[in-house]
Amino acid sequence: MKAITVEPTKAGSARFDDVPEPDIQNGSVLVEAVAVGVCGTDVEIADGKYGWPPPGQTRLVLGHESLGRVLDPGPASGLKRGDLVAGIVRRPDPVPCPNCAVGEWDMCCNGQYTERGIKQRHGFMSERWRIEPEYAVKVDPALGILGVLLEPMSVVTKAWEQVLAVGRRAFWEPKTVLVTGAGPIGLLGALLGRQLGLEVHVLARTQTGPKPELVRALAGLYRLRQLVLDGVI
Ligand SMILES: [Zn+2]
Repeated sequence: MKAITVEPTKAGSARFDDVPEPDIQNGSVLVEAVAVGVCGTDVEIADGKYGWPPPGQTRLVLGHESLGRVLDPGPASGLKRGDLVAGIVRRPDPVPCPNCAVGEWDMCCNGQYTERGIKQRHGFMSERWRIEPEYAVKVDPALGILGVLLEPMSVVTKAWEQVLAVGRRAFWEPKTVLVTGAGPIGLLGALLGRQLGLEVHVLARTQTGPKPELVRALAGLYRLRQLVLDGVI
């Protein structure tokens, strides 16, 4: 099958490649790729800045923002053929560290975690991929192709959870939030801010393109960084 692979830490090595069908050791659920997001991490890996192939291999299948359709749900996943799923990226370290031991592997503190498409596990930029049932997240079919935003949205949700956890150490009644940056992550963060009922200000560097209108569509306030720095607004 086809896949986009890279030789980690070797700039310019990304290519449209022929690779074997996904290994059953990657999970009992077989998935057909529908979409894969490309983020700054993928660009940095393709630029050779970091990345780790699976043990004993030289190339890594890229891609960690996934959306796929179940081809074979396997014996015990609770999924059915045709379901849309997104794959969880990180796996806990084998030791495990205290955070991985309690299921908080986003907070792994010994660095021995692994990640699909980034660190020692093949990613999702292949025609088909496999995943363990407990790491396959069922996506509401009403989302359609937008389900590919589930993984980046989970990152933003995690950030909001941490913000709220810190804020709730004492009485706290937030009314306004400032989001710095109007890229996809900033816009998803602004979206959640609006869902929390906050007045959202998005600080950005450009006044052209779709970003100002996207922010206004959320009923957010779009602020140009330079004008803010100059004290104009
Ligand atoms: Zn850990």
